[in-house]
Amino acid sequence: MSNRIVCKFGGSSVADAAQFRKIKSILESNPERKIVVVSAPGKRNPQETKLTDLLYSAHDLAKQKSNFSEPWKLIKERFVEITQELSIKSTISEELDKLEESMRTSEVSVDFVASRGEYLCAKIMAEFLGAKFIDAYPIIKFDDQYRVAQQSFEDLNAALSDLNALYVVPGFYGSDMQGNLKTFSRGGSDISGSILANACDCIMYENWTDVSGLLMADPRIVKGALSISYVSYREIRELAYSGANVLHDEAITPCRAKNIPINIKNTNSPEDKGTIIGPTPERTERTITGIAGRKEFSMLYIEKSMMNKEKGFGRRVLAILEDLGVSYEVSPCGIDSMNVVVDSKSLHKLEPKIIAEIEQKMQPNKIKIFDNLALITTVGHGMVNQIGTAARLFNALAKEKVNVRIIDQGSSEINIIIGVNDGDFEKAITAIYKEFV
Ligand code: ASP
Repeated sequence: MSNRIVCKFGGSSVADAAQFRKIKSILESNPERKIVVVSAPGKRNPQETKLTDLLYSAHDLAKQKSNFSEPWKLIKERFVEITQELSIKSTISEELDKLEESMRTSEVSVDFVASRGEYLCAKIMAEFLGAKFIDAYPIIKFDDQYRVAQQSFEDLNAALSDLNALYVVPGFYGSDMQGNLKTFSRGGSDISGSILANACDCIMYENWTDVSGLLMADPRIVKGALSISYVSYREIRELAYSGANVLHDEAITPCRAKNIPINIKNTNSPEDKGTIIGPTPERTERTITGIAGRKEFSMLYIEKSMMNKEKGFGRRVLAILEDLGVSYEVSPCGIDSMNVVVDSKSLHKLEPKIIAEIEQKMQPNKIKIFDNLALITTVGHGMVNQIGTAARLFNALAKEKVNVRIIDQGSSEINIIIGVNDGDFEKAITAIYKEFV
């Protein structure tokens, strides 16, 4: 393990020249911050469009042979402004002109165009910091199943082997075995940073964004919700329901594989400690670590007498959903009934097909869909082996007259998932928070 720290800066952290300057002083304040990963410039204000989105729309228009000068102008302006303010000499503007020309005259892949936000941002950052630019394209390799190939970790380690050097690497992309540039899914620079932390055996992965870490509950629901100082890799996965995801969920695994802690930090308030995501702690101060939830789920209810005696019933129902490309959240069962909770949008898109297939293949006595369901998960290692936690939670909900429609607790005991009516969502979260925090 080296003493190096990977610092990934998200879109809002590289949105303009002033943000670049903040990054410089963040790096100067800790010499162990040696590996920098950047996103493409993000929004400077809520009305603005992210550079990556502008690149996607320019590509879209170019593909239809339409005029893409409108998004292109904004892309160019943004880069020119940053380079001028930072007195960058690199030929960023020429690179953009070349790309524009090739998009006009030939077909350039969508992944290549989208990746240029990170590529150019990293080039500017490297020059501004006097650091070495390392392109991710030839080193981060995807295998045929779109997983990062093992060889990439060794190649990254070799490419960033100078422990005293400062490196800048663009996030969000790599290439496949055929040499085509490929991006991760949206928000994928988080994954690039985690892969680098793993490959270079870093002591820490700092993920710099515009909030000082995670909160125990959505602050729009619970005003003044406390921040989470430490959350385990397992807990954060359970909290992934939350709409307010600050970290791409695939960014956990590479760090987790080597027990490298991830620190969510705020570029605009670098002294704040933020949230550390790390291995399961020996002891916890609080019973619960956080509460997360989401509305707009639907429950598929299937009833059939003697269901429990029919081998493979559950598997076959889930296979029907799988074949139609629908994933499910939880599936609580009774002796003669099965419930499958699915995101409402994906269920309704395919509702007639799903119903028809289940009717035909499973011959149920009854099949029904219940809408307007919200799932809430209460998470914490502190709940394990604690007698009375569930009782406290349900009492708190009963006091607020919240009807619980689904209960699901895994044997790991680190989370309790409940399903309530959409209309009770906020009330339920507030009640649980007040009981435990
Ligand atoms: N720029 C890419 C996106 O907007 C990737 C990232 O920021 O992580 O999704």
